[in-house]
Amino acid sequence: MSEKDSPKYIALKQIRDEVMNLKDSPLYEERIKNETFPVIGSGSHDANIMFIGEAPGKNEAKTGRPFCGASGRVLDELLQHISLNREDVYITNIVKDRPTNNRDPKPEEIALYGLFLERQIDAIQPKIIATLGRFSMEYVMKLFKLDENIQIISKIHGKVFEAKSAYGTVKIIPLYHPAVGIYNRNLLPELKEDFEILVDKS
Ligand code: URA
Repeated sequence: MSEKDSPKYIALKQIRDEVMNLKDSPLYEERIKNETFPVIGSGSHDANIMFIGEAPGKNEAKTGRPFCGASGRVLDELLQHISLNREDVYITNIVKDRPTNNRDPKPEEIALYGLFLERQIDAIQPKIIATLGRFSMEYVMKLFKLDENIQIISKIHGKVFEAKSAYGTVKIIPLYHPAVGIYNRNLLPELKEDFEILVDKS
């Protein structure tokens, strides 16, 4: 069977096609008007670790690639610290289109695009899900019925939660959003320490 015939490839292509044509999204018109792209995800479809950010920024919407601006440079530095590169992991966001002027995503946007994220998780079946920032931490922890463990990100970052999924046990690890490393370089050692947990647990 060629890769293109595999159920995983077909499922991920279907997700891409649906997001490309997501006319029901409140962000669709803006995408067309600005001639930008949705950001579906990048990396290995067989990754053990899946990173989930919030939503594309300006650079990401221009290129269709996740984390390719300033936060992406911090993310690359953190991956390098644990000797991984982008091809070893899968990187995506909850919301696939850029919220206007980088505002926070609205609950209805998270609800709409979150369904695609859930299908991406089911297709890729990562053993570790590392959430980047509070929006993805909340969404993913609720998804895996970890509601009672939700805390503010400064308390919960770097903790490991085990959950059951349709494909087996999955570890959920909430992390700071890499953007915090842009504004506060003093936090970088802590971010790096959190990333080391990803290697210990994989
Ligand atoms: N911030 C995110 O959460 N995701 C991106 O892709 C870029 C910046």
